[in-house]
Amino acid sequence: MKPINEMKLSFLSRSSNEAFARAATASFLAQLDPTVDELADIKTAVSEAVTNCIVHAYKNTIGTIYITMTLYEGKNAPEARIKIRDKGCGIEDVKKAMEPMYTTCTTGERSGLGFAVMESFMDKLKVTSTPSKGTTVTMVKVIRSKGDE
Ligand code: ATP
Ligand code: MG
Repeated sequence: MKPINEMKLSFLSRSSNEAFARAATASFLAQLDPTVDELADIKTAVSEAVTNCIVHAYKNTIGTIYITMTLYEGKNAPEARIKIRDKGCGIEDVKKAMEPMYTTCTTGERSGLGFAVMESFMDKLKVTSTPSKGTTVTMVKVIRSKGDE
């Protein structure tokens, strides 16, 4: 599929950048004229993925988070693909990590629902990871025309 447009971002894994990542991806997406719901879904999914980089991948350290957002014409409707990558600790067992309620957090602060949220709010979710090398989360959202609402 031929991309219509693409942007790349990189920023430090500081929690203040979570809001920045949400706003930046939402404002790039605006050119596809998404509905309020589609925009909210993408912002939530981006937040979950970026938070995971901050609290898990770069736990107790500061590293760089990379986002690539590509817009495609799509077969029937335009699509946004968002790739969120870190060079952090990686995940031993991706399948297990993606199970709802699975968390490695022992303080009770997290519920293990981040991947489940990404999966339900987006149309596609793919996670690849190599322990001690890092993790890439790729998500796709189809942007349905507002006329179809
Ligand atoms: P919640 O998202 O509900 O606050 P959580 O972050 O533990 O809790 P998920 O987002 O579903 O839940 O992630 C599940 C587990 O996968 C995490 O506990 C963590 O062990 C691992 N994980 C997720 N993303 C990364 C990442 N980028 N790098 C390393 N480990 C990760
Ligand atoms: Mg999470």
